[in-house]
Amino acid sequence: MISIEGLTKSFDQLEVLKGIDLSVEKGQVVVVIGPSGSGKTTLLRCLNILEAPTSGVVSIGGKTLDFSHRVSNREIAEFRRQTGMVFQSYNLFPHKTALENVMEGPLVVKKEDREAVRKKAEAILAKVGLGYKIDYYPFQLSGGQQQRVGIARALAMEPNVMLFDEPTSALDPELVGEVLKVMKDLAKEGMTMVVVTHEMRFAKEVANEVIFMEDGVVVEKGKPEQIFVAPKEERTKQFLRMIQ
Ligand code: ATP
Repeated sequence: MISIEGLTKSFDQLEVLKGIDLSVEKGQVVVVIGPSGSGKTTLLRCLNILEAPTSGVVSIGGKTLDFSHRVSNREIAEFRRQTGMVFQSYNLFPHKTALENVMEGPLVVKKEDREAVRKKAEAILAKVGLGYKIDYYPFQLSGGQQQRVGIARALAMEPNVMLFDEPTSALDPELVGEVLKVMKDLAKEGMTMVVVTHEMRFAKEVANEVIFMEDGVVVEKGKPEQIFVAPKEERTKQFLRMIQ
């Protein structure tokens, strides 16, 4: 479903990604871990081209962008539609209700029929446990509820892949579980997911593969039981000792 080859990204002189190769099968959950500044967010943003890679080839669901050539904005927009992104800060429209937030993408970007979009949005909000809050504005919702609206909004675009960038990092500890539960349910349904998170329990329970990044490279990857129980690389061991 996802394949990345030789992905590099530089900001001026700073090379943040130094040649990443990655592949994710349909229905798999990959969790990316690593120290602050290792390039995890940049990797996710290169996957949906919120940041244009400096070089490399990115494929999702049969569409391929090769950054050794010039890639047009139209190609990028079309490519991006395959991915749904959930951010640490929920980024909801503050003046729109939960329902309106979820309806916005299909209405404005996909130009779908309003009534059909309303039904779909209501069903998705019910699925994330917010069927009773559809007319609430973001300021009337807890952080966990806002983040679940964020997930619903991404799902409404019917993406092939969901990308999560530290989706629970801004939440009070007691609200983390409700968001992780929605993510676990999605994984069970077979959604292909790439998740940057510090929630090691989620990684252990849900990930098919864990990727440890440091300094712009993938240091080690493997099944969670291997990475967490018997990491091979010294740098992975050090990182895990620090956070556990
Ligand atoms: P964290 O866990 O703290 O979020 P991260 O692993 O996600 O870190 P990135 O956010 O990808 O790391 O950042 C990697 C490096 O790239 C950092 O040194 C950061 O300062 C730099 N960087 C990220 N975005 C930009 C930008 N738009 N312009 C310049 N430098 C950037």
